[in-house]
Amino acid sequence: MSATLIDGKAVAQRVLDGLSHRVAALKGRGIHPRLAVVRVGDDPASKVYIRAKIRACEQAGISGGEFELPERATEAQIIAQVEALNADPTVHGILVQLPLPPGVRAHMVADHIAPAKDVDGLHAVSLGRLLQNEPGFRPCTPAGILRLIDEYGIELRGKHLVVVGRSEIVGKPMALLGLERDATVTVCHSRTPDLGAVTRSADVVVVAVGRPHLLKGDMIKPGAVVLDVGVNRLPSGKLAGDADFDAMVPKAAFISPVPGGVGPMTVAMLIENAVIAAERIQGG
Ligand code: NDP
Repeated sequence: MSATLIDGKAVAQRVLDGLSHRVAALKGRGIHPRLAVVRVGDDPASKVYIRAKIRACEQAGISGGEFELPERATEAQIIAQVEALNADPTVHGILVQLPLPPGVRAHMVADHIAPAKDVDGLHAVSLGRLLQNEPGFRPCTPAGILRLIDEYGIELRGKHLVVVGRSEIVGKPMALLGLERDATVTVCHSRTPDLGAVTRSADVVVVAVGRPHLLKGDMIKPGAVVLDVGVNRLPSGKLAGDADFDAMVPKAAFISPVPGGVGPMTVAMLIENAVIAAERIQGG
């Protein structure tokens, strides 16, 4: 068996291309969708991610603006920036790039974003709506994974979905989205005693840990679907996921590569949410 490669880059491009009609329709009505990205400090990885987001805005025809605050900015100052963007009617979506400096509570900052502009889906209201199965902005990474699953015709209903990692931005919302699709969901984390025993029983594995090659070939069953969220910089400078890609290929049915798998979809879902936010604000 040789796994089908899940081409997140191509699917993300199709999402962005598909948005351009909706953006044109909005502009025809005088609405110019705008995403504001708040960056605190000079973290080089954050800068790279923000550049990718602004580039994707351009591809979809929406405007993306970066708002910079110094590394020493306090939680109150970051919240003040968020509130200024809440009050700005030309801004439809707000994203605060993570991680934030030590001492700043990311959830406190997220909870100050107006829910209507919460395109990253991390406000308590958005997360609560996800828990309630009510419509709302979903966190972009798990939403992007779900879109990939759909695009490749992978069925979740009745399947065993194992999510490795329980963060608020990936693991937990992924588990809820899996439940929404009638999967039987197991969530693993650093205290799970025998990870391989759990992942070997999975039909679909989502691995979001941040450890290169944590998921080894003998930890999946033949024909499993592997969605790799991890982004790890190896000493060689190359990027690697959390799954041992080469070991997955002969065994899995589907595997998402790193880079070019989940990452571009996270960005595409963000831009889609920004367009939806603009459509809702104008009552469309
Ligand atoms: P966090 O650090 O917030 O969470 C990591 C999770 O992994 C925790 O729940 C932790 O468990 C668990 N974990 C750690 N070690 C193990 C282990 N040995 N076995 C099983 N579980 C373990 O990370 P994020 O969710 O924010 O990100 C995960 C990875 O995904 C990172 O590489 C990040 O860069 C990447 N990422 C990629 C995105 C993309 O768009 N491609 C978007 C977001 C993240 P515990 O809770 O017990 O500590």
